[in-house]
Amino acid sequence: MTQEETDKKYMRRCIQLAMNGWQNAKPNPMVGAVLVADGRIIGEGYHVRCGEGHAEVNCFASVRPADGALLRKSTLYVSLEPCSHYGRTPPCADLIIKKGVPRVVVGCIDPFAKVRGRGIRKLQEAGVEVVVGVLEDECRKLNGRFITFNTACRPYILLKWAQTVDGFLDDHFRPVHISTVFTKMLAHKLRAENDAILVGRITVERDCPRLDVREWSGRNPRRFVLSSAASIDRILEECYQEGLQSLIVEGGRKTLESFMERDLWDEIRVETGMLTTGAGTRAPLLPGNLRVIRMENYDGNEIITYERKS
Ligand SMILES: [Zn+2]
Repeated sequence: MTQEETDKKYMRRCIQLAMNGWQNAKPNPMVGAVLVADGRIIGEGYHVRCGEGHAEVNCFASVRPADGALLRKSTLYVSLEPCSHYGRTPPCADLIIKKGVPRVVVGCIDPFAKVRGRGIRKLQEAGVEVVVGVLEDECRKLNGRFITFNTACRPYILLKWAQTVDGFLDDHFRPVHISTVFTKMLAHKLRAENDAILVGRITVERDCPRLDVREWSGRNPRRFVLSSAASIDRILEECYQEGLQSLIVEGGRKTLESFMERDLWDEIRVETGMLTTGAGTRAPLLPGNLRVIRMENYDGNEIITYERKS
């Protein structure tokens, strides 16, 4: 196995570990770390919960005393650049230097303003060999919400709707159940995984949606109602100020289109049910620059998730 393949193998393990922080690391990013010496993993860790130890801290803590001497010839793999600033915990870059680790492999740079390359520079200045960008895309995707929030200064935006086979959002302008019992539960899971949810004023008046998480466990997202397209910026700014890193936009058509027209979206999720209604509100047209990232089929309903073609 070449060095490059070895680095990818352990970075993949970092990503697996990082995913364990899916619900609790927020608003911090999910991060995984692995220590390798003599071709063997001697330590592993991930960021479990916001306010607690970072992945690197937990990784060092997991090393058995008998393996302590191996640190001086180990490689630390970490999916996100180690921090360089004093937050609730001391900088991980300092810890790595103190432990005498000679080589660090980083998945992607931390876009957070207080880090942004400083962690890497600190390590290099201390004589640590640093490799950056192993499985970079996967590492960035892992924290799409965190990265969008910190680089675009707005929440990660997920547009979502359910349509009939013949492309309508309703039945002759009256609400219709397109989701199945199971896909409805998935929609509630999605709400639990995101920080905020938005619908248009007409949808609220017509459907009275509760927009909560009653068929899944987790926190209810913060609710927003869009009264006019002109208030999108105000809502996005409010999300940013309050640290809400992701926003689901659930419709109706006008609301969804006003986000698409301004190219304000990161992911689109369309569920197509099996029924036809013949007339009603037409589903929005998908933008042109799409790529399918997931196709799922549950009891006949198809859910396709798209992202922007890069
Ligand atoms: Zn850290």
